[in-house]
Amino acid sequence: MNAEEFRKYGKDMVDYICDYAQNIEQRDVAPTLDPGYLKKLLPVKAPLKPEKFEDVLADFEEKVMPGVVHWNHPKFFAYFPAGNSFPSILGDMLSSAIGSIGFSWASCPASTELETIVLDWYAKALGLPKAFISDLPGSRGGGALQGSASECTLVCMITARSRAIQKLKGMCSEIHESVFLPQLIAYASKEAHSSVEKAAKMALVKLRIIEADERGRMRVDLLRQAMQNDANAGLTPFFVVATVGTTGACAFDNLTEIGKVCRDLPNVWFHVDGAYAGNSFILPEMRKFSEGLEYADSFNTNPNKLLLTNFDASAMWVKDVMSLKTALNVNPLYLQHEHEKAIDYRHYGIPLSRRFRALKLWFVFRSYGIMGLQAYIRNHMALAKKFEMLVRKDDRFEVRNDVNLGLVCFRMRAEDTYNQELLAQINHSGKMHMIPSMVNGKYVIRFCVTYEHATEKDITDAWSEIKAFADDILRDVPA
Ligand code: PLP
Repeated sequence: MNAEEFRKYGKDMVDYICDYAQNIEQRDVAPTLDPGYLKKLLPVKAPLKPEKFEDVLADFEEKVMPGVVHWNHPKFFAYFPAGNSFPSILGDMLSSAIGSIGFSWASCPASTELETIVLDWYAKALGLPKAFISDLPGSRGGGALQGSASECTLVCMITARSRAIQKLKGMCSEIHESVFLPQLIAYASKEAHSSVEKAAKMALVKLRIIEADERGRMRVDLLRQAMQNDANAGLTPFFVVATVGTTGACAFDNLTEIGKVCRDLPNVWFHVDGAYAGNSFILPEMRKFSEGLEYADSFNTNPNKLLLTNFDASAMWVKDVMSLKTALNVNPLYLQHEHEKAIDYRHYGIPLSRRFRALKLWFVFRSYGIMGLQAYIRNHMALAKKFEMLVRKDDRFEVRNDVNLGLVCFRMRAEDTYNQELLAQINHSGKMHMIPSMVNGKYVIRFCVTYEHATEKDITDAWSEIKAFADDILRDVPA
């Protein structure tokens, strides 16, 4: 494809994207298909000869699109939001066009420097503790963009593991690091995201799961007890994960209390996972939930969830960037360059190659401004409260979580099987999409406001449809 063709097809593609976004409500939010649907529609081999762009796009609409779940649909209430917006798409387009691979300052100075600047903007916008902000005098901290919250947790766990092993190893350089692995133990709440368990599997360390209270917050008394018992038994507690905005119920762990527990034992790394809700600290009224973050060694939040930035973009900050470099540093000749003091983001994560991801975030910050982003999140909060109010007004239903942000966990006051049936009917309708979760031992349906331009009508319409399904189901419930 030459530049003139790209100019033409690029404009066609923008038209296609605009039509998609403007008419998205005419599509079912999620398909009802069986696995293998696409295999039946596409050839088994790639074409030998070039095909026309128009034909590819037509096939996309006809064959691929029917299998798409529309995460940016007004009736998509599942998971957490897949952040997206036109400014973000444009920034991402530019990143794809430039195609630089910014693993070191020298490999793309602009990519490295914009990432540093934007992550400092972001940290300041969220009111993060000064120790995470790189451009403040005396700071040893800073941030980096990763592909996912899972990666952030893994990177921090591996860094903490390295720090703990170095301490245990002391001067005995001949002992291999792996010898100390059985001694190490990490902690997370039962309500922490499954990525913590996965990280512990990959890092080959034990993970102790701590019970949560009835509101889904980690039981800090049990954490303290468990860490003390483990230390007394000769284990080395080295890593604790707290969550702000749990996946199941959007519960907020008490960071101050957990932070103090971590501080009371030597050398424990305290990580805070705020994949979704961390972004809400952009609102002064949500900062009560970030109290205690000053105890944390690291923090992550995904702009690709609640900050209108398309996947992938997960921000991670650490108080001591040297700890990352110590744990993850490899330095072959072909990656070395003459500006040793400049940041090389290859030391901050797992991959070598890195996209110019800061661009889309920069476009988002500049296009919306902090006030625009605040307004967007406040709208989600108000709509979640509206939905909560509608549910609470109907005696047949109950709300099972504290509605602090965009998530409402609700259920019918009936056996789980009826609630499972309700969710099945909601999803099979193709008109709305939701997922289940367990809150305090009860099966619930998660209703999360996700759409950028969500309105009260989206919420009231959804509630009417939910009630209509419930009317049918509850008719069969024995009195
Ligand atoms: N942490 C929390 C609290 C989450 O809710 C999620 C996903 O929703 C994750 C981590 C995993 O995020 P990612 O898909 O970016 O790895």
